[in-house]
Amino acid sequence: MVEFINVSKKYPNGTVALKGINLKINKGDFAFIIGSSGSGKSTLLKLLMKEEAVTEGEVIVNGYQLSNLHHKQIPYLRRGMGMVFQDFRLLPNKTVYENVAFAMEITECIPKEIRRQVPMSLALVGLSRKANAYPHQLSGGEQQRVAIARALVNSPALLIADEPTGNLDPENSWEIVKLLTEVNQRGTTVVVATHEKSIVDAMKKRVIAIDKGRIIRDQQKGLYGDED
Ligand code: ADP
Ligand code: ADP
Repeated sequence: MVEFINVSKKYPNGTVALKGINLKINKGDFAFIIGSSGSGKSTLLKLLMKEEAVTEGEVIVNGYQLSNLHHKQIPYLRRGMGMVFQDFRLLPNKTVYENVAFAMEITECIPKEIRRQVPMSLALVGLSRKANAYPHQLSGGEQQRVAIARALVNSPALLIADEPTGNLDPENSWEIVKLLTEVNQRGTTVVVATHEKSIVDAMKKRVIAIDKGRIIRDQQKGLYGDED
């Protein structure tokens, strides 16, 4: 599903964010990418989404070799992955329903399919009754659930979340983690970057630890550890 082969990333200002990354994430996996702030977690996810390009090496996602990907193919790549961010990134002037529908409209889905999928996706995250609310009328936890509904509405094989609980209190954080686990149990591969020790330790999922741009540990049923 995801493979990094000898990947390095150097930003134009000279910062080396990742060095010699070799990594394989299989279909159906649930993996945490952990590490302190600045270790390279976001960069790794940005390479996956082709928001940034590698300096060296190769990233393969869903069968796409990203370095050879024509820019016209990027929408196809992105259709196969859902993304969730720390700051939710909802459109403030659109309702919950419209925010989720928007993810389908930009991939040119037919209206009938949109009317079918959006309510299903909202039901999955338990927000059917908030369909007509606007983001500012929702709590942080609810906003993140809308973001997850939006990420899932195109039935992606891969869900990527960058610090999805970073703006949430512990109770809402657990709701989101529970939801991500359910999504994974339905067959979606889930990759979550986080530095929240309590969550990682409680979940006992795969842990890929990054420090200063290198993978320093990759463990099935891992703990956060005390590297930082
Ligand atoms: P994390 O997500 O673990 O906090 P990042 O991947 O955001 O780490 O950052 C890794 C390193 O790359 C840091 O030193 C950061 O300052 C640097 N970095 C991130 N984005 C850029 C950028 N666009 N230009 C230059 N340096 C960057
Ligand atoms: P939390 O304590 O989790 O941050 P809030 O206190 O913000 O949650 O909201 C509690 C409930 O009230 C949520 O279901 C939220 O959707 C609803 N709510 C909050 N503000 C508004 C609003 N301006 N209009 C409609 N519903 C709201």
